[in-house]
Amino acid sequence: MFGLKDDWSLDVPARYFTLEDYDGGVARWCPGCGDHGVLTAVQRICRDQQIPPERMVNVSGIGCSSRFPHYMATYGFHGLHGRALPVAEGVKSRRPDLDVWVATGDGDNCSIGAGHWLHAMRYNMNMVVMMFDNNIYGLTKKQTSPTTQTGFKTNTHPRGALLPPIDPITSMLGMSNASFIAQTVDWNPVHLHDTLLLAWKHKGLGFVRIMQRCPQYTNQVFSDFQDDPNSLLLMQHDDGVPVDPALDRTFKNRIEHDPSNMAQAIELAGRRDVIPIGLFYCDPTRPCYDDQSRQGLGMSVEDKLAGLEREFDRFAI
Ligand code: SF4
Repeated sequence: MFGLKDDWSLDVPARYFTLEDYDGGVARWCPGCGDHGVLTAVQRICRDQQIPPERMVNVSGIGCSSRFPHYMATYGFHGLHGRALPVAEGVKSRRPDLDVWVATGDGDNCSIGAGHWLHAMRYNMNMVVMMFDNNIYGLTKKQTSPTTQTGFKTNTHPRGALLPPIDPITSMLGMSNASFIAQTVDWNPVHLHDTLLLAWKHKGLGFVRIMQRCPQYTNQVFSDFQDDPNSLLLMQHDDGVPVDPALDRTFKNRIEHDPSNMAQAIELAGRRDVIPIGLFYCDPTRPCYDDQSRQGLGMSVEDKLAGLEREFDRFAI
């Protein structure tokens, strides 16, 4: 970033962004909430990649994690429950030059927003979608969410959740035109950062499920996994999430997984004895709808009206 010129003077960029430039204020999540770590990872990516704050839009729905845009000093849209993705797609289709990030939760995304979720994967517009999965509706105080484990006691199911949970990874692996599906955990900052960075670099919709601790309501759900690194299965491959040498001692449990191998991705997603983390599936050749929707951008009003008239004339009788 800061290079030396031929005359040995320092080559300083006209603008250089520090972490403070993305800091939108003190996050009001509970102490120990996994959301704090995700916020830090995204701000680091912004700083390292020097994303101008005015060229980034963070979009969310409703839920604890959906407070995300408030804590980023960028443009943002804290929208309606389950509706983050259509808003993000609208932004991307009119302003493909902007960096669009979506923060959504398991309640927001997998329940009321599920229809949008499926179609957003299929539309495959260029953005990062972070699904914070804490297995509960935290904002509304411990209600059963679509990913709550069967038998887990909640305020809406005091005798235990009745239905088998949705598996977001398996569901998305079955979605047509999905192009990037990854999983990470909030308690490993290196892997979290590297996974989100890879999703950002991907052309298309980078879907990342983040196992997120909620010490307030689902503390025990992830504590075993957090305490025992061998309960995580690190997927590694040259085309996958890069394995930082800092992770060598942490992750002994590894598997070689080529992210173009859909059959193995489905098999790994079905594992219940361990949590596989890394890149399940990636296909950068999938069509992106924003490549279509950008057509006509920059046309004058007169040209657009003339185009409409031409189309209407085709139906004249
Ligand atoms: Fe985080 Fe849970 Fe608190 Fe919500 S209720 S802010 S998810 S710890």
